[in-house]
Amino acid sequence: MINIGDIEKFSLVDWPNKIAAVVFMQGCPWRCPFCYNQTLQNPHIEGAATWENLIHLLEHRKGIIDAVVFSGGEPLLQDNLPQAMDVVIDMGFKVGLHTGGYRPEAFEKVLPKVAWVGFDIKAPFISERYKKATGGIADVEKVQQSLQMLIKSGVPFECRTTCDPRILNIDDIYQMADTLANLGVKEYYLQKYRPIPTDKTTQESECNKFFNDEKLLTYLRSEFAIFDARK
Ligand code: SF4
Repeated sequence: MINIGDIEKFSLVDWPNKIAAVVFMQGCPWRCPFCYNQTLQNPHIEGAATWENLIHLLEHRKGIIDAVVFSGGEPLLQDNLPQAMDVVIDMGFKVGLHTGGYRPEAFEKVLPKVAWVGFDIKAPFISERYKKATGGIADVEKVQQSLQMLIKSGVPFECRTTCDPRILNIDDIYQMADTLANLGVKEYYLQKYRPIPTDKTTQESECNKFFNDEKLLTYLRSEFAIFDARK
C-alpha cells in the first residue's frame, strides 16, 4: 500500500492536543541541508516498517490513540496516500499530515480526508531562496499553490519554519511572517535548528539568535493569533 520508513507508536507532540501514532513515510524529493531524517529521503528503498505493521498496531490502539499523523519524508510523494488514509479513517482514527506542499495535485486529493496539517515553510517565497533551502530542488510556486489551497480549505493547520542560520537570517523571518500573515495564516512556529552530525561549524549562539531576539518574537506574537518558539 505505502512505503513506511518507521512508525512512532505514541506521540503527544506531532499533532497538538492529540494522542497520535506517527507514520514516517519513506521518500522525499527534497534535500534540505538541515534534514534530520536523511534515512527517509531515498524513495527507492524499502522502509523499516510495513503497512501490515501499521494496521496491526492500530487494531491494538483503538481507544488509546486518537489519530494517525502521516509524516516524512514527504507523504505527498506516494500515490497510495489517499487510499491509506481512507483505511485509517475507516478504522476510526482522525488523520493528520505533515508536508512541505511539494505536490499540489496530490495535496488536493488528501485535503478532504485530513483533520489537521502541519505545513513546513522553508524560506521566503523567492525561487532561489526556496531552492537553496531544499537542496536546489523545490518549486516555490507549487508550495505557494498548496498553501493557498490549504488556507481556502478551512482545514485547521499550523505553519512552521526551522531556523537554520546557514539558510535564514532575522530579516527573512520578518519577511516570511508578513507574507504568511497577509495570506491569512493564523498559527506559526519557529523551530530551532540543531546542527546535523555533518555540520561541524554552526555555533549554538547562531542557532539561538532567532529565539533571543525579543523584538522579533514580539512582532511575531502580534502578527499571528498563535505563535510560539519551539526551542
Ligand atoms: S522535506 Fe523534510 S524529510 Fe525532506 S529533506 Fe527536507 S527536512 Fe528532510
